[in-house]
Order: sequence, then structure tokens, then C-alpha cells
Amino acid sequence: MVEAKSRTNLRSLARILREHLHLDDVLYFPIVELLDVMTELFDDFNYEVVEDKVLSKKVHADTDIRTGHIRIKESVYEGACNGEGRDRMTIAHEIGHYFTLCFCGFRLERNFSGGKIPAFRDPEWQAKCFAGELMVPAHRVKGMDAYEIADQCGVSYDAACVQYKHLPKE
Ligand SMILES: [Zn+2]
Repeated sequence: MVEAKSRTNLRSLARILREHLHLDDVLYFPIVELLDVMTELFDDFNYEVVEDKVLSKKVHADTDIRTGHIRIKESVYEGACNGEGRDRMTIAHEIGHYFTLCFCGFRLERNFSGGKIPAFRDPEWQAKCFAGELMVPAHRVKGMDAYEIADQCGVSYDAACVQYKHLPKE
């Protein structure tokens, strides 16, 4: 279990990162470029593009949360460079692990109750949520439908639907 973070917290975190990079209003987030920017900004961040066979079939990329080291499959990296929504989101997800675990304090706790981990304390949920919020800026997509979001933000239709569902209601 990790420190609890809500979607609202993660949305703010994504926005702070965007503002810091002067990308607050950008719809198509340059996620591949962010990898190199982060390598320069943070001493403990680094990534590596590996041959597909290095990682198991189901894994597209992974992050060692203790070292901040990210490994990305060659095919995923290339897909992301070519604007493939799912691959772009994979990279955002791994960066999400870095920000939610490494950068924001490494706080793994023991789950003494042995029960199910609530979603907002699950590192996978946090990385996924952060990635969605980073790639689809809620403050910029008001009035768009899921097709427009997918197209403008360079995410898959499924990811666009998830973000659309969580847009703040007015
Ligand atoms: Zn993950």
C-alpha cells in the first residue's frame, strides 16, 4: 500500500508538472520527449529502451520504484514516437509510477489487515490515474466527446472514455 491519493490529488499533480514544463494548455502531450527532460531534471530518473524479448509478453514497460529506472520495450517506444495512443499511455503510466512513488515520497506501508487494498492506495491505480490525467488535461477538454479527446490528446478511444467519464461536472 502507498500513501492515499485521490483522482483530484493526481489531477493537481499532473497539472503542476504541465505548468512547470510550460505545457499547461497543450492537448497533445509530448510524452516521449518528457523522458529525456526528466533524465536531465532528476538525478535518480533514467530510462532504457530494451529489446522486446527482454520483458515478458504481457509487459510493455516496467519501473523499478526503488531506483526510478524505467525499461520500455522497443516496439512500445517506437509506437509512442509514431503517436500510437496505447504506447503513449504506457510511457505516461511508468512516469506516473515515478511521480507517485519516488518523487512524492516513497511510502510503502504494510497492509496489516490483509484485506483488499482500496483503489486509491494501490500504486497501479495511482500510476494509471496520473497517466490519464497527464495525457488528457481536464481543464482543456471541456465540451469535447471521447472521439475528439482521443484524436486531440493522442490517446486510445478507451482511455479517452475513461477520462471523459471523470471530467468534472458543472
Ligand atoms: Zn504499473
